[in-house]
Amino acid sequence: MGPILNGLTKLQSVENRLRAAKAKLARSRRSVIVQENQVRSLQSALEAKKEELQLTKVQSNRLELELKSRDEDVNKLRAALNTSKSNKEYAAVLTQLNTTRADNAKLENQILDLMKTMETDNAECENIRKQIEEQKQRLEQTRKTAEVAAKEQEGEIAKVQAEWNEVAKTIPAEPLKVFKRVAETYDGEAVAQVEQQEGRHAAYSCGGCFMGITAESVNVLITRDEVIRCPNCTRILVLTNAQIEV
Ligand SMILES: [Zn+2]
Repeated sequence: MGPILNGLTKLQSVENRLRAAKAKLARSRRSVIVQENQVRSLQSALEAKKEELQLTKVQSNRLELELKSRDEDVNKLRAALNTSKSNKEYAAVLTQLNTTRADNAKLENQILDLMKTMETDNAECENIRKQIEEQKQRLEQTRKTAEVAAKEQEGEIAKVQAEWNEVAKTIPAEPLKVFKRVAETYDGEAVAQVEQQEGRHAAYSCGGCFMGITAESVNVLITRDEVIRCPNCTRILVLTNAQIEV
């Protein structure tokens, strides 16, 4: 292999390290975002619970008001019972009194149920608040760790990028353009080694997509320092050291 293909092979190895360093930085940034989202989701759970609690409170207040007014009815009926002038009237008032009392007992039970619900919801709110506090502390810790790591990783990226630029300088404009374009398509993988199929002489395939490569292309790669691309995936083909020696 001549200087162009050698340069592209070297650039590929630096490209791999550059991509790996960038992925590492993205991962540590993502860890912060994931925890921020957890805090946000707990906060919206708390808001929803508080809203639910508020609705129960309104309902409970309404029932208590109703109970109060019905208690007054009971008092009135009791007074009417004492002043009733006939057995018939007495019996009628008594029936009404008993009905009202039974209704009030039902109301009281409903109010008690609502209070229990509010107690549970209050405890749940308290629990979520505690979780938010804990999650916020974890987030702070993660943020600090990520900041330190990011500085290191940014330094590493700058270093590898400088190395990349140096190697790129040694490659002519056209092959470099091809490298960049193919690298964009295949997540950084622009150069593929030619693979020789086991046991079969002169049967070659692209190490990127595993489609067949003609012996003619391999001959060109052996004799000339030229960019030959896989006809299927368009990756830049290079030979392994063993293939060059043959
Ligand atoms: Zn291919």
